[in-house]
Amino acid sequence: MAGRKKGNLSAVIGCHLSYADKAQIEHLSPEQLDTWVDARLVAKHARQAEREKSRLTPKAQRPDCGATTRAGGRCRAKPVWDRERNQPRNGRCRLHGGLSTGAKTPEGKRRVLECLKLGPIARREQAAARRAKAEAEK
Ligand SMILES: [Zn+2]
Repeated sequence: MAGRKKGNLSAVIGCHLSYADKAQIEHLSPEQLDTWVDARLVAKHARQAEREKSRLTPKAQRPDCGATTRAGGRCRAKPVWDRERNQPRNGRCRLHGGLSTGAKTPEGKRRVLECLKLGPIARREQAAARRAKAEAEK
C-alpha cells in the first residue's frame, strides 16, 4: 500500500481525520503510515460488521400478516416487529392481534387452552344448528 496519497486518506479509512490524527501522521514514514492506515481499516470493518449485525430486516422482506379479511382476501400489512429479536412478535399486524401479548394470568391461560380444545366441537355444533335451521325453514 505504499505510495498512497494523503488526500484521500479519510475516504480510505471511512472517517474524517481529526487534528490529532493529522498531527500524528504528519511525522510518520510511509511504512508507518501504512501500518496506521491498516489499523484504521480494521476499525472501519469492525464498525461496518457491528452495523450490519444490528440492522433490522427491511419491511419489504418481512412476511405478511395473512389474517382473513372481511372482503375475503388476506391481510397484506406487515406484522408487529420485535426490534430486539428482529422477528415478528406473533405474526400478525397491529390490526389483527399483533399487539396482543396473550393471556397472562394462570386462569386466563387455562381458559385459552380450554377454548382451543373445545373450538372445533363448538364450530361443528354451530354448523349443525345452522343446517337444522335451514332445513326447518324449507
Ligand atoms: Zn393484518
